[in-house]
This record gives sequence, structure tokens and C-alpha cells, in this order.
Amino acid sequence: MMTRILATFYVFAATAGLLAALNPGFAGRVRWAMVALSLGALACAGVAVRWGPRWSRHAFHVPVASAAGLIVTAVLVSPDPATAVVAATLMSFIAVDACFFFSLPLAALHLVLAVGGMTGALLLQGDVPAFVALALVPIVIALGTVTRGLVIRASGASRDPLTGLANRRGFDDALQELLTAAARSGEPLSAVLLDLDHFKRVNDASGHEAGDLVLCRVADVWQSELPAGAVFARQGGDEFALLLPGLSGTDGLTLVRRIAALHPEVSLSCGVTEHQRGETAAQLMRRADRALYNAKAAGRGRCELDGDMGSQLARDLADALSAGDVQVHFQPLVDLADGVVVGVEALARWNHPELGPVPPPEFVAVAEQNGLIAALDEHVVRVACTQLAGARTARGDQVTLGVNVSGRELCEPGYPRRLQALLAETGFPAEHLVLEVTETVIEADSSTAVAALHALRTVGLKVAIDDFGTGYSSLSRLDTLPADIIKLDRSFVATVDSSPRRQQMVASLASMCSALGLDVIAEGVETQEQSEVLRTIGCTHAQGWFHGRPMPFGQLLDAVGLHHGEFRPGDLTSAVRSA
Ligand code: C2E
Ligand code: MG
Ligand code: MG
Repeated sequence: MMTRILATFYVFAATAGLLAALNPGFAGRVRWAMVALSLGALACAGVAVRWGPRWSRHAFHVPVASAAGLIVTAVLVSPDPATAVVAATLMSFIAVDACFFFSLPLAALHLVLAVGGMTGALLLQGDVPAFVALALVPIVIALGTVTRGLVIRASGASRDPLTGLANRRGFDDALQELLTAAARSGEPLSAVLLDLDHFKRVNDASGHEAGDLVLCRVADVWQSELPAGAVFARQGGDEFALLLPGLSGTDGLTLVRRIAALHPEVSLSCGVTEHQRGETAAQLMRRADRALYNAKAAGRGRCELDGDMGSQLARDLADALSAGDVQVHFQPLVDLADGVVVGVEALARWNHPELGPVPPPEFVAVAEQNGLIAALDEHVVRVACTQLAGARTARGDQVTLGVNVSGRELCEPGYPRRLQALLAETGFPAEHLVLEVTETVIEADSSTAVAALHALRTVGLKVAIDDFGTGYSSLSRLDTLPADIIKLDRSFVATVDSSPRRQQMVASLASMCSALGLDVIAEGVETQEQSEVLRTIGCTHAQGWFHGRPMPFGQLLDAVGLHHGEFRPGDLTSAVRSA
């Protein structure tokens, strides 16, 4: 919109300049100066049309200020008072532009400079009576003021009053514009739908004011992180929508995951999709909605790419799984009392032949959407159980193995039976296998998932609630969760050594878990200070880069003091540090 208005004004100003150049009173050189100014204005219109849609709002100060400069020059070179006044009236374009595009203080600054420049140039021109020059001032100011009033009225209809973001109407208008621009430029355009998880509970428990604060916090964080040109809107209630011109679906997914991680206290689900050639706005948003639905069905608190977009990646992942090209790395888990490595977590790794290493959350989401998650999880469990069956800690016990299970997989009928068959096949003891599920999976009210966890616990497996603390409900249900272990999310650990309140919170949580017979594993421990604080406040176990990064099985045994067969004491502390 800004681009179009700017270009239109440049074209009309150029036309006025060219007509004025026909004035027989112009001396040869001055006439050519006027023609050059007009052609310069036409070129500016072309530049604005071609590149304007990619400029940030701030960039528009340059063409508006340059236009004012061109007009002042035109007034100064005018051969007679009539032409000078005609050129000066073009300053009304600047007033309209500035009051339409910019915030009030910046619009006022442009207006003052424009009016000052215009009046000064008219007086310097010499032939224009002073009162005529001054008479133009209120006209230009009035045009700017009226424009501002109209803009405020019109934008009120497409703004959300609580967050100041565009509302559904504003979003729909922007979507139409961006679709037209994308069709013209051939650049990608992604659309995202976001929905806050369990927002009703926030409203019910803490009141609507608290709910409003959460909505404003989300609006602030996203607006400050989004690139120039992105359109972020509140569609109503706890639903937001986002348009990302210039970004492919996968780039959009990476961006929304990064921003969502900046407010771990507000969990949300996102569906991301990329516009496909010829698709209407309604079709695009239907696919974004489908991706959002998938994100919620997979346990909330996650961002999913629409299945159609991930299909190539899904085919590659299927090939990699059948060729055995998905690797399994292991991250050590230590007993904080003495630093002994007592277990490991198996983490899948995929090195795509062209894209390089694909982040696990990305390929796990692709696997979930394309029916590959069972194959992925089974592959990881088989490889990990085979390699770790018989692996001993420095104390001589069987190493505990944590494996991640997708909520989707857990809901599949027959999952407990298939897992038991895998344990029988690999010879890994059930009581040393820990299933890691996220709390959102249990929150998703899936009775099948919860029944599967109960069934597996009766045959000796342990259940850990992964990333604990990133959802909403579990604290109130800590005593009823079908779990043995709580894996405290790394967002808790990050500030445990710097924030006394956070420290107190983790200490209370640890003592509550211990009273309920639950082990606590702190995730994401990156420094010695964090590890030390966690030990003193009652966390029993820790996992994180300080104690060892995820590594291939080949490195694991030597690096962290594990071994096959008999007891082999070693200097664990130094071994662990070197991992
Ligand atoms: P998770 O189960 O919570 O795994 C822990 C993640 O934290 C891992 O990321 C690990 O590399 C990372 N991490 C560990 N210590 C630190 C630390 O000190 N600092 C930081 N910043 N990060 C640390 P990764 O490997 O990228 O895996 C991400 C998620 O992908 C896992 O989260 C898990 O939910 C999922 N995932 C990984 N492998 C599998 C799998 O085989 N099956 C399924 N269903 N999900 C998997
Ligand atoms: Mg895990
Ligand atoms: Mg985790």
C-alpha cells in the first residue's frame, strides 16, 4: 500500500513537472533541468514499484524526504511565479504521504521540513509575493491533518484494540496484497496459524486481565522478533495468524520455532504452510489450519509444517530409515551425588545427503505427519537396546536407557506389545528402559496413551515426563501421572544459579517429587555452577552439555566410564569432563 501511494505521487508529480516544462517562459537550460527532475521522479516511481514491497517502514523516509528535495529544487528553478506556485503545491503530496505512512512525531517532522522548505524556496525564487507563499502553508498542513484523521479512522476498523495488531479484516487485506505481490515477484510466502494452549484455563484460573496480559506478551515478543514485511495479526480469542513474505515453509517453521521458544511460559501450537502457485487465500489458510490441527493432535506446544510441504523430506526420511541411515547418539545422565554416569538418553540424528544435519524436532515432526514415526522410534529403540544390552556403569549396574516416544506412537493400538517384542529381541532388560513422553502428550487427554503407559509400567518399564514444566497442568496432577521420573525442562535450569526465586522453585519441586517417590532429572545442565546448585537443592540426576554431549556409541564407552562386562573403576570425573 505504501509503495503504491508513493509511486502514484511520484508519477503525478513527474507529469506536472513535464507539463510545466512546456512553459515557453523557460530558458533552455532551466527547461532541461525541469525535464531531468521530472524524469528523476518517474525513475523513483519505478524503483518504488520494483523494490518497495521489500522495504521496511523506516526505509520510506528516504523517498519521501528526497521527493521534498526535488520539489524545493523545482520551485527554485521555476522561471515565473505561477510555475513556482504549481511546483510548491506538489508539497501537498509530501504532507499526505508523511501523515499516512509515519508515526505522529515523524510525520510532524516531515511536515515542518516540507512546509519550511516550500516557503523558503518560494521566497527565494523572488517573484512570488510573500503572502501567496504563506497562504499555501495552511493548505498543505490541512491536507496532512485530514489525511491523518482519515487514516486513524480507517485503520481502527482493521486493528485489534487490545494488542494493537491487525485484526482478521486487516489480516485478510494484507493476505490479498501479499498474494498478488508473490504472484508478481515469484517469491515464496508462508502463512502460519497460532493458537495458545489451554488459554481458557488461564482466564478461568487467573481472570481475564491475566489472560489479556498473556495475549499482549505474545504480541510483543512476536512483533519485536519478526522480520520487516511480516504481518502478525490477532484473529480473535487466543488465535493469531502470521504472514511471512519471502520465506519458504521450512524457513517459516524454523523462525516460528525460534520465536515460540522465547516465551517458554506461554505454550502455543502453530501450523505452518507455504503458498503454492495458483492457490487462493482460503485454500492456503485451510492448509495452515490443518497443520495447526496436527500440532494440537500431536500433543500441543509444537509447530508443524503442513504435510504437503514436508512430503519430499518425508520421502527422503523414509529412504534413510529403510537404508539404516538414521543414527542414534547417546547423551549421558549422571547421578549428582558422585558424578557417576548411570544412564543415557538415545537421540536420533539424521544427516540428509543434501541438506546436511536436520534438527531432530524437524524430522520427528515430518515423521509424525507422514506415518513414519513408528518406524523411526522402533529403529532408535532397536539400535539403542542392542548396543546397550549388557553395558555397565562404573558401579557395575546395567546402564539405564531413555528413549523418546511420540504421542502419536503411544496412541497406536498394539504399541505396548510391539515394544515388549523389541525388548525380547534385543535382550535389553525392561526395568532399565525409560520411556520419555512430554507432559503435553498426557495432557492431550488421550486415554489410549495413558493406558499404554500403565500397561508398560506393569511389565517393569519406567516412564519419564520429558521437558516437564513447559505445559500447564501437570503440577496439579503430579500425584496421578503414570510416571516414575520428572525431567525438568532446561528453561528451569538455565537461571537456577542466578535467580534465587528459580532456585527456590526447583528446590520445592524436587522435595515434592521426592515425597511422591519421583526421581528428578535436570535437563540442559551446561555449567559446573548449575550442576552444583542442583545437587545442593535436592535434584538427584542431571543431563546436559556439562556432563556430556550426545555422542555416537563408539565414543560413549571410553568417554564416560561405561563398559561391557565386569566392573572397571575409572576416573569418572575427568572422563565426564572430557566428553
Ligand atoms: P528431548 O528428549 O528433551 O532431548 C533433549 C534435547 O536437549 C536434545 O536435543 C539434546 O541434544 C538437547 N540438550 C541436551 N543437553 C543440552 C544442554 O546442555 N543445552 C542445550 N541447549 N541442549 C541440550 P535434540 O537431540 O535436538 O532432540 C530434540 C528433541 O527431539 C528431543 O528432546 C526429543 O523430544 C526429540 N527426539 C530426539 N530423538 C528422538 C527419537 O528418536 N524419537 C522421538 N520420538 N523423538 C526424538
Ligand atoms: Mg527426551
Ligand atoms: Mg527434554
